[in-house]
Amino acid sequence: MNAFEPDFIIIGSGPAGVSAAVPLVAAGRRVLMLDGAFGMAETVQGARWERTLGSHLQSLRPDDGTSPKLQAPLARDLINGFLDASAIRGDNFVAVGSLGRGGLSQVWGGQLSLLDEEDLDGWPIRHADLAPSYRAVMARIGVSTTGGGPEAETAALPAGAIASRILARHRRYGLVADFTLWPALNAVLAHPVDGRHGCDLRGDCLFGCERGAIYSSVHDLPLLQKSPHFALTEGARVTELKPHQEFGWAVTTADGREFRAPRVLLAAGVLGSAALLSHLVTFPAEGLRLLNSPTLALPLIAPERLFRRATATHSLAQLGFALRYGHARLDYLTGGFYEVNTLPASSFINRMPTGRRGGRALFDLLSSSLAVATAYFPGDESRTFLHLNRTSEGGGITVRGGFADGLEERAKVILGRLAGHWRRLGLFRLPGAAIATPGTDAHFAGTFPMGGWGNLSTSDLGELSGFPGLHLVDGSILPTLPSKYITLTVMANADRIGRQLSNT
Ligand SMILES: Cc1cc2nc3c(=O)[nH]c(=O)nc-3n(C[C@H](O)[C@H](O)[C@H](O)COP(=O)(O)OP(=O)(O)OC[C@H]3O[C@@H](n4cnc5c(N)ncnc54)[C@H](O)[C@@H]3O)c2cc1C
Repeated sequence: MNAFEPDFIIIGSGPAGVSAAVPLVAAGRRVLMLDGAFGMAETVQGARWERTLGSHLQSLRPDDGTSPKLQAPLARDLINGFLDASAIRGDNFVAVGSLGRGGLSQVWGGQLSLLDEEDLDGWPIRHADLAPSYRAVMARIGVSTTGGGPEAETAALPAGAIASRILARHRRYGLVADFTLWPALNAVLAHPVDGRHGCDLRGDCLFGCERGAIYSSVHDLPLLQKSPHFALTEGARVTELKPHQEFGWAVTTADGREFRAPRVLLAAGVLGSAALLSHLVTFPAEGLRLLNSPTLALPLIAPERLFRRATATHSLAQLGFALRYGHARLDYLTGGFYEVNTLPASSFINRMPTGRRGGRALFDLLSSSLAVATAYFPGDESRTFLHLNRTSEGGGITVRGGFADGLEERAKVILGRLAGHWRRLGLFRLPGAAIATPGTDAHFAGTFPMGGWGNLSTSDLGELSGFPGLHLVDGSILPTLPSKYITLTVMANADRIGRQLSNT
């Protein structure tokens, strides 16, 4: 028998788990949070060399073609630990999941989007159902824009020189039908709040923010732990979920402990939750469909900024943009605009055909004029499926990544249109634009959709069909994946479910 008898067990301390816990605990419901974490948070607090190179110099390994962010030591540790423990492997897919306190929010880019009524078409909930939760989550995590604007109500941090100029031009030139540009909305504090510091624009955000300016769900744990209704057990990697006649649900961990509660909320991230449910449900023969956002990266140069000194800014997105490319509701790309002088030199040098020394010289000369636009396609452009491995392959899950038919061809045309819009604003396309390996986006959804049909669907409270008391509260239950940044919606939806369950 556990000393603390919970009403709810939440599995995972990432953004989804914490967002579901906050309203439940506030309503006086007893919550036990289990996390398989093995003490990641310390890495962010380490010496600067340790944060950038890694205590085992992981960052000096050859560039594996993923985003610079995924190569940072903290990200490598979080993801590799998860993949090993969960026996998940990618086939033409970068399988991104986490085993660590705070989950992927320890390494995320912090860019935020809100879905509108059109984006929610086909969901069993409306925008009005999410709106109070969007507001509550944004107030809790702290948000700011980059550069702001005359109409800005949100706190603003200074934008880099390239971003300020092109945003000013975009505003001056007036509306374009298919392309919009705005100051990025990021989960980064401009001013100190609750023991977290405001951003000091030092620009090494990629390696974890030791000031706590960038939101991570790690920040919410001490606040939750102040409540007698909340308990966190770390080092508790869940391996099995079982219905229990008397208690509702029994949860077993890798070290053999068992925890029980009437309801279990699964927030292990889309891949982590699927791995846990793979013991409880049968995946379809063709595999379990996962929605992800195929991603394009477009390197750009602003000739007017050549050989100039870079201005201090953070290395999160400076601007957000959207490009409509078709007539269907979700036929648009959303993305972030980054200034390269805030990214690690290696991510540029390793891609230059000049060798390392030449690449370094070029980087020093050019970095103040370089930028990258990263764009995401909506999830219906992905064709990714989760397959259970046969026992002879050692069990576990293989994630087979792919794109919708003709996407690579369409992407070339769309890249050309995108480059045209940047050119109009004074930025020129450099070689190296490419569609990334599926999964690099880390925007995953749709494995157990809310309001779907069949035994792999969930109710509007994320309750899995045929398993009363077992709720999913992470991205797994989003029925569609618009191209927007998705985590704020994952959090708002978990908050909404937590609020509703607090009355049950
Ligand atoms: C490099 C990078 C940049 C990103 N940038 C952005 C961005 O700018 N904007 C945006 O919207 N999104 C971004 N994302 C995506 C964002 O990080 C995720 O959407 C978000 O973290 C998902 O939250 P989650 O709580 O569902 O899962 P996670 O963050 O993965 O958390 C899962 C939790 O479950 C725990 N767990 C897993 N398995 C088990 C188990 N078996 N037992 C116990 N505990 C377990 C883990 O320890 C962890 O605490 C980015 C992701 C990456 C990798």
